[in-house]
Amino acid sequence: MALTIFNTLTRRLEPFIPGGVPKEKIEDYPPVTIYSCGPTVYSYAHIGNFRTFVFNDFLRRYLKFRGFTVNHAMNITDVDDKTIAGALKDAITLREYTDKYTNIFFEDLKTLNIEPVEHYPRATESIDAMIDIIAHLDKKGLIYEKDGSIYFSIAKFHRYGRLSNVINMDIKAGARYDADEYTKEDIRDFALWKAPKDNEPYWDTPFGKGRPGWHIECSAMVRTIFGTTIDIHTGGVDLIFPHHENEIAQSEAAYDEPFVRYWVHVEHLLVEGSKMSKSLGNFYTLRDLLLKGYSPRAIRYLLLTAHYRKQLNFTFDGLNQAAQALLRIDNLVARLNDIKQDASPNQKVIDQCNAFLTSFTETVDDDLNIAGGIGIFFDFIHDINTMIDSNSISKTDAEYVISVLKKVDTVFGFIFFPEAVNLNKEEIEALIEERNKARKEKNFAKADAIRDELLQKGIILQDTKEGTRWILKS
Ligand code: AMP
Ligand code: ZN
Repeated sequence: MALTIFNTLTRRLEPFIPGGVPKEKIEDYPPVTIYSCGPTVYSYAHIGNFRTFVFNDFLRRYLKFRGFTVNHAMNITDVDDKTIAGALKDAITLREYTDKYTNIFFEDLKTLNIEPVEHYPRATESIDAMIDIIAHLDKKGLIYEKDGSIYFSIAKFHRYGRLSNVINMDIKAGARYDADEYTKEDIRDFALWKAPKDNEPYWDTPFGKGRPGWHIECSAMVRTIFGTTIDIHTGGVDLIFPHHENEIAQSEAAYDEPFVRYWVHVEHLLVEGSKMSKSLGNFYTLRDLLLKGYSPRAIRYLLLTAHYRKQLNFTFDGLNQAAQALLRIDNLVARLNDIKQDASPNQKVIDQCNAFLTSFTETVDDDLNIAGGIGIFFDFIHDINTMIDSNSISKTDAEYVISVLKKVDTVFGFIFFPEAVNLNKEEIEALIEERNKARKEKNFAKADAIRDELLQKGIILQDTKEGTRWILKS
């Protein structure tokens, strides 16, 4: 079995072949080149955005789990209508404004245990590459100027519309759009470069002063970082049209080669069944959830474990269930760490572990079916717990199981493996006391931080009717 991925461009499940040339062994493939549309840094990212960013993280982690190497870029959109408006409102420079939200974004990525990628290009640092694309398009007669802005003439690019399937829709050739976002009902020529407006930052270019349209930055960064066709381009489904459609048009028309092999789009997150919006009061940033006392691990679990092509209905119930699921995993790790008795390796344990890894991989290989993979993981947890119950697992076996959990956690990134304990009983109880106090004061973020600190040090807390108990592992 090989990894297959659904390609939005062909609307088919396709075997994944990095570089486009099949190889005998996974190790023989060149690094998988991935580009993910990143955040527009004008505010805090919301949990819908983080669904997509957690998916990007899972994708790269899973590719590495399968033996590929990855070369991954995610852009930071630091110039657009919203960032410019924000900087003006706060009376600071665009860079000061976007630096603030870029730093917050990176903190949030860390909180969610999202691995750093290899490249984080900023739009404002990619202007030369944008100029290069526009110059190529100009030579081919595919652009025109109107009121100081430069537009791409979509009627001259015959493949326009293939990704979003707008081919047979009413293309208003010669009509233009300045806004970065618009709907399929309004397919028009889009702005590559926008004429300067009062109070807006601008750059001097061979075609006059101005600032980039939104779509051009991703094409420019892909070209600068990777130089040629890339393997995977990701983003949320809202980006298929017009953003990704326009990226394809610019890049392929400028450089006469395919832009991307696999287009991968993540379905949206809904909150309690509705589209998230500030006016409905169901709009949450990551920090909103942390303040309500939810742990980053539970949030990561919930965002990660739904299939990326299905809408994810975020509910607080779901978040509580995620926390429960993590508790089951923590308890297994604790039980395994508690096993002291040694014996020669039990072949049954080894077989069970290997069977789990095989069926997990086969399942997730099918269009990155992590939801199915999680189901198989919990069956495995159940089987191992049953073996512990019947004393069939020795210390050596337990270590083997832990190594399998560590392997699978290179994909999940939500299992805690406590370090050796170096706290004494009084210190642990003082921390529990402090946590109880924080909970009484409804300072759930602090309470949670203490719980996680103890967990990291090898202590699991269990809140019971009689109070908080702890289990110590060595
Ligand atoms: P933005 O900062 O608005 O450019 O969005 C960053 C990423 O989040 C993009 O890939 C969007 O497609 C994605 N995104 C936006 N809203 C949602 C949502 N509700 N659910 C999942 N992904 C989203
Ligand atoms: Zn983009």
